[in-house]
Amino acid sequence: MKKLLARYLLFLFAAGMLITCEKPPKIVPDEAKDPDPQEVETDKLADITYQVNVYSFADSDGDGWGDLRGIIDHLDYLDGLGVSALWLSPVQTSASYHGYDVLDYSSINPKLGTEADFQELIRKSGEKGIDIYMDYVLNHSGKGEWFQSAISDENSPYRSFYVLSSNPEEDVNAGKIDNYGGGKTPGMGEWHMASSGNLGYKGRVHIKVDMGARTVTVTETTEDAQAPNKSNPKCWLWYGSITEHCGMYETGSNIHEITLDMDTEWGFLICTKTDWSSGSKWGGNGGSVTFGEPFPINNTSPNDITFGGTSIQYFASFDKSMPDLNYGPYASASQSPAFKALAESADKWINMGVNGLRLDAVLWIYQNRTTANTTFLKQWYDRCNQTYKARGGQGDIYMVGEAWADDAQKMAPYYKGLPSNFNFYFWWTLRDRIQKGKGDDFAATVNYFRDLFRKQRTDFIDAIKLSNHDEDRAGSDLGKSADKEKLAAAVLLTSPGKPFIYQGEELGYWGTKSGGDEYIRTPIKWTRSGTVPKAALNNKVDDNMLTDDISVESQLASKASVLQVYRSFAKARNTSEALASGDLQEVKSDVASVALWTRTSGTNTVLVAHNFGSSPAPVSVSGYKLDELLVSNGSVTVSGTSFTLGAYSSAVFKQ
Ligand code: MG
Repeated sequence: MKKLLARYLLFLFAAGMLITCEKPPKIVPDEAKDPDPQEVETDKLADITYQVNVYSFADSDGDGWGDLRGIIDHLDYLDGLGVSALWLSPVQTSASYHGYDVLDYSSINPKLGTEADFQELIRKSGEKGIDIYMDYVLNHSGKGEWFQSAISDENSPYRSFYVLSSNPEEDVNAGKIDNYGGGKTPGMGEWHMASSGNLGYKGRVHIKVDMGARTVTVTETTEDAQAPNKSNPKCWLWYGSITEHCGMYETGSNIHEITLDMDTEWGFLICTKTDWSSGSKWGGNGGSVTFGEPFPINNTSPNDITFGGTSIQYFASFDKSMPDLNYGPYASASQSPAFKALAESADKWINMGVNGLRLDAVLWIYQNRTTANTTFLKQWYDRCNQTYKARGGQGDIYMVGEAWADDAQKMAPYYKGLPSNFNFYFWWTLRDRIQKGKGDDFAATVNYFRDLFRKQRTDFIDAIKLSNHDEDRAGSDLGKSADKEKLAAAVLLTSPGKPFIYQGEELGYWGTKSGGDEYIRTPIKWTRSGTVPKAALNNKVDDNMLTDDISVESQLASKASVLQVYRSFAKARNTSEALASGDLQEVKSDVASVALWTRTSGTNTVLVAHNFGSSPAPVSVSGYKLDELLVSNGSVTVSGTSFTLGAYSSAVFKQ
């Protein structure tokens, strides 16, 4: 500790030497200040997390997929960035490259490595003071063994794991769909048909549609087949390939019949027009026909009329490849079989040494019903924390929710369920203010958010960030301006909360979702001339961005790189109690482009200043010391009780 203190004093002294209060003012060169590159602190006061796309971060075996061993190989880089935790994209076996459709919650995706690799990553990162946070997807799974069993067997132990219904409309109206959290409509998502077994038929049948009784009766027959009615039929059959629509014969009031040779793999549908216009499509409620018996049909929720196998509808908030999980009534969710199975899988990883979880899409677990969701989340948190404490984990397990609501007021109640939530509003505000060159209301806005959260939970952990793997890159939003990216980094790392750095932002990556999500998930380019793994991303990588200069090798060698701003501000945050954990106090700024605040922890205070504007900004402050610069970016010129910040420049003065 003495050594740490000595290094810290040396650090402050070195930082202080960089500026002067005497006239004439000394201009600090236009580059990031690294107070003492030789004196790398191993202690990390701050709580900085790095978000890793495991499939694209670093590829250790040359198969075009980033992998767990690739992370192990680059722990020194992450340590140098000052991070004390890694949030890994889902590492469990999944169907897609991104991992958010988990097939088996208890196994490691072989594309990413082995369970032994994961254990080694936990151990080796722990030796550097870096925790591992797993991404846990609770809202939905992929279509793995659980789902296949659930849809094909009414007696499957996994039947209750999913939101299944043979008549969603009826079940929703009857309040039987727990996933809706007490509501009658989903906040998002659709019902989809799930089928298993042989649904179709090949052979001669007589089909009788009774539109009065709303039934269809299918009978196997040896009678002669009829040609399709092409003379103004009022009812058609659709089967086989979609072009085979067959006119039926009207044989009575509301009765339509035909004998035909049917060859279809999926069953059939009935149509009262030649197209699928609204209300013209008639199908079953689910299930399959019994020959010779009337089968009910409807035109509000028409499903394929099948001849065998099983079919049932399932609900999915997101893509149909990701069926929602069902935890039963929210008040007793922890008693549901799905909850217990997921919790047992989490136990395995927590007992292995995982110290935190990031929870995906928590708004949709109970369809945007806040009380239902937070009641569920508290049960999940308590269960995982119990395991963590039984393991001997220090303090409480860390858990952060992706409660991606439209605004901070709607997100704030999620603090009732979880100790930490992503603050999307921090970045959206910062982005807006940098674009407008307006900084003077930023500190007040940050405190406005924090006050909202504090009302819900006094020990809230504000998970601040710039962009993430689901948003257009910060670099794109900021017009690919390295100066603005550096400013955003400096603001992130001088603000209160728990900062998350998204893979590639520290290098100034850009990319938008317009060409595919892959373009915001680009691999790290480690060396100037090196290649990046592209197989996981199906070659959707922007090579124009990946110039030699954007590489880690190049940016480590340059004092003025985006990476060096991240490193120097992270180092300052890791060595300053005030920057690491101090409260934020707004300091009135009389320059519209300048954001000013203090951070105070105990007797430790710093004055933070950022110029969001494109022109140099003169700042007058009274009552603050300007003689010790803890860290800075861009240009800072001090003169008496005032200083000038260059365009997009930042300064942190020790008080
Ligand atoms: Mg690989």
